Amino acid sequence: MSEVRIAVYVCHCGTNIADKVDVAGVREFARRLPGVEVARDYQYMCADPGQELLRSDIRERGINRVVVASCSPRMHEATFRQVLESAGLNGYLFEMANIREHCSWVTEESELATHKARALVAAAVKRVRFHAPLEERYVEVNQKALVVGGGIAGIEAALKIARAGKKVWLVERGPSIGGKMAGLDKTFPTLDCSACILTPKMVEAAQHPKITLLSYSEVEGVDGYVGNFQVTVRRKARYVREEDCTGCGTCYQKCPKKVPSEFDGGLSHRKAIYVPFPQAVPNVPVIDRSNCIRFQTGRCGACEKFCPRDAVDFEQEDEFLTLEVGAVIVATGYETFQPQEAPQWGWGRYENVLTARQLERLVNASGPTGGKVLLRRDGEFTDEVPKSVAVLHCIGSRDENYYPYCSRLCCMASLKLAHLIREKTGAQVYSFYIDIRSAGKGYEEFYTRVQAEGIQFIRGKGAEVLERDGQLYVHAEDTLLGAYREVPVDMVVLSTAVTPAPGAERVAQIFGIQRGQDGFFLESHPKLEPLKTATEGIYIVGCCQGPKDIPDSVAQGAGGAAEVLSLLTAGRVQISPVVAEIDAEACSGCKVCVPLCPYSAIKYDEERGACGVNEALCKGCGTCVASCPSGALSCRHFTDEQIYAQIEEVSSL
Ligand code: SF4
Ligand code: SF4
Ligand code: SF4
Ligand code: SF4
Repeated sequence: MSEVRIAVYVCHCGTNIADKVDVAGVREFARRLPGVEVARDYQYMCADPGQELLRSDIRERGINRVVVASCSPRMHEATFRQVLESAGLNGYLFEMANIREHCSWVTEESELATHKARALVAAAVKRVRFHAPLEERYVEVNQKALVVGGGIAGIEAALKIARAGKKVWLVERGPSIGGKMAGLDKTFPTLDCSACILTPKMVEAAQHPKITLLSYSEVEGVDGYVGNFQVTVRRKARYVREEDCTGCGTCYQKCPKKVPSEFDGGLSHRKAIYVPFPQAVPNVPVIDRSNCIRFQTGRCGACEKFCPRDAVDFEQEDEFLTLEVGAVIVATGYETFQPQEAPQWGWGRYENVLTARQLERLVNASGPTGGKVLLRRDGEFTDEVPKSVAVLHCIGSRDENYYPYCSRLCCMASLKLAHLIREKTGAQVYSFYIDIRSAGKGYEEFYTRVQAEGIQFIRGKGAEVLERDGQLYVHAEDTLLGAYREVPVDMVVLSTAVTPAPGAERVAQIFGIQRGQDGFFLESHPKLEPLKTATEGIYIVGCCQGPKDIPDSVAQGAGGAAEVLSLLTAGRVQISPVVAEIDAEACSGCKVCVPLCPYSAIKYDEERGACGVNEALCKGCGTCVASCPSGALSCRHFTDEQIYAQIEEVSSL
């Protein structure tokens, strides 16, 4: 090894580090470590003057190894590597000691923080001696993109990418795009018609020459790596040929089989062959095989008989497509809490207890009552409008028994529904809330407006709904009055929690996305990389990441498109040189490592009788290295020498 000349820089990070860690003491300690030529401390190492210190020491004092003791490498490792490169030194001859998150931020004890900072700096100095220059490589980026999920966030993302001239595949699990927004009547706080603002985007997405819409389709698997993914999509059999169908509707008018409509929350019926809602895109029916008489008994076939285009095809089978794309946006949306899991609120037991989503359908002109809020008796809607309605916020949200988090959008959605009920029925509306969260443009003003409309706000969570002699009663503790309340009403609306979409676990597995404790997809960094995931080239937007309202979902959709476009237009992507390598001579071909690699980066080569690593797929996680019984595997930049040097030094202090 040529002479090692190490420079150490200890950062104050303003007062973030310097408040707890004796930075001057750590600097002096570092100065005395073997191989250290320069030791300095500076207020902000990441700022230009801090970076300039590194450059001038490298150039003028012959420094060939650098240690910066500052924040997490996630924040500034790339910054400092670039500084080294700009001074003519390979960026991997650098090591970072995290004395902020690991020292100053985790203890009140200055002495302990300083002691640990010294240990981490000593370990970094010892390790950096064994660093070797590594070369970054580049791979070409496929210019097509995939968006998974056709709700408003996914539609927005697909449109933005397509308008920039890039080809997009938009894959939607259901028969139509539109997502949850398609089921809403009005949107808060402006009360504009949801369908009026959504359907133009749905139509544009379906007609855009750069977008191929694959509805009623699901992603089955993903291979490849950033810039070069191969995605397998299952096109589920609709039993209707899309290219022949004109959407005339004859088939579902003739179909004799009625099934509760999922789109209307079970408040109306659809047929076994159906389009989920009138403005569906594509406007092509699908046969629900499990309810179709023909599929279940071999009889019927009315849809086929009456279709003027001969578009019904009972023999249709699922098809599989392989899409080659450079980047993927996952926008698989959310579900809402199913209140049958919580019998205290009476849903499913009392027919005039509805979820907020069901009420959305009642107030909607295309819903089961043509937009009227009506009471039900014996499973049928009557002509009777409710005289009093309770809207219960936070059903399942902010509740340790169900979902501890706030669902964010339901306060505003509840206020909107309270307004619409009052407007349509003149009923006395009671809003039971824990507290109102109306953070958003125009939201607080909308809350004030609803208050002025005479809605009665009761500060207390609706704890239970009971029925006596045909009358519903909401039980709650009014925390402002300090009194127990029993409020008689004709109808109850439950604002249920936003939950991860069904199948989120499988989607996460397919795309290598991590999930948080709440089950929603986890972003790379909540503040700085809110749309990126642990898998490079895979982005998350909209409610699959966590509850959010329409403006935030649209903004994220556009943000995801910007991420994809910056990747695609760059044309090539950097591949980290920190990857595993196999010494083919030492490899016995036992294949122990092959199934252990979470990124399927290792393949067995029959001819050589040994395994090899696909460097574009490898993430340098080290799993395989630890497993190899022959010691044939190693990971660049995490060699045994480097790791042992670090451990020895930390444990000796
Ligand atoms: Fe399509 Fe035929 Fe049904 Fe008309 S009757 S909507 S053409 S499948
Ligand atoms: Fe309905 Fe099935 Fe009969 Fe077609 S064959 S009309 S989908 S029940
Ligand atoms: Fe070769 Fe080691 Fe993999 Fe076995 S575990 S195949 S010896 S690299
Ligand atoms: Fe796979 Fe991790 Fe080994 Fe790379 S280091 S080959 S990602 S197990």
